[in-house]
Amino acid sequence: LESEYEQLKDLPCETLDGQRIGLYVNTGLLADVNRSLDRGAEGVGLYRTEVPFMIRDRFPTEAEQEQIYRQQLEGFAPAPVTIRTLDVGGDKALPYFPISEENPFLGWRGIRVTLDHLEIFMAQIRAMIKASAGLHNLKIMLPMISNVAEVEEALALIRRAYAEVKEEGYDVVMPQVGVMIEVPSAVYQAKELAGMVDFMSVGSNDLTQYLLAVDRNNSRVANLYHNFHPAVLRALADIVERTKGEGVKLSVCGELAGDPLGAILIMAMGYNTLSMSSTSLPKVKAVLRKLTMEQAQDMLRQVLPLVHSDAVRQTMMKLVREAG
Ligand code: PEP
Ligand code: MG
Repeated sequence: LESEYEQLKDLPCETLDGQRIGLYVNTGLLADVNRSLDRGAEGVGLYRTEVPFMIRDRFPTEAEQEQIYRQQLEGFAPAPVTIRTLDVGGDKALPYFPISEENPFLGWRGIRVTLDHLEIFMAQIRAMIKASAGLHNLKIMLPMISNVAEVEEALALIRRAYAEVKEEGYDVVMPQVGVMIEVPSAVYQAKELAGMVDFMSVGSNDLTQYLLAVDRNNSRVANLYHNFHPAVLRALADIVERTKGEGVKLSVCGELAGDPLGAILIMAMGYNTLSMSSTSLPKVKAVLRKLTMEQAQDMLRQVLPLVHSDAVRQTMMKLVREAG
């Protein structure tokens, strides 16, 4: 199997009928860079900046962040690297910035924290933009967006940070900016959000948690956490429908994208980039290369009407087996 994956490394991720799908990786550590390139990643769809923040005992300075982000951007250049602004709160705590709440997943999390602490947000954005000097492969992604005002405010701050850094003499271009779609309200405002940004990436882990009202880390309700829940699939398909014609690039960066069966469905819906852990990348590529887009769309048509998560998964397993 390893050698099959090795052979796949330099082959494009395309269906039998030649449809290209971008396979990107989710990263957090410097060690992820080489691992991802070895597995044929075409770029970074999600760099979780919480990781370098979590392994310290204080906030990294702007200069330290610039250096950390530079390693990711340089490692993948000229391929794009999507850096997400700090997504702390919820399940991700910084030891030196404790947040104590009754309902952390419904609380002070992601963009909510950084828009309340502009010094954290601005240092991070400035560091990202400086780190991209001469490379021009930075994309900035905003987590936990639940309304349009958050995006308006973040965009204004990013434009300001860009102007400052340029003024300071750095060779930079305005980065593409995107949002994560991981809160149900963002699904219903996908069209409006699409008009404001360059790309959108669905965080299927949180979207599943929030659609089903099931804490993604609570073992007592883990049996209710279903990636293949019909409501999750319909939400994913709905995002594509609602954003048609808006010229926004769509991707999925949650665990569902790294599950070969999930990847088939996501591709069939019309997403053209999938981002996953580097471990999942070869097996997803191997599966997508064995299907035509028409076969994948036919599978999607068969599972969308199903009402049970188990039925979706089992039907997909059967269909993929039959397809050879
Ligand atoms: C997600 O929510 O699906 C996602 C990719 O982000 P995270 O797992 O970091 O919350
Ligand atoms: Mg998330």
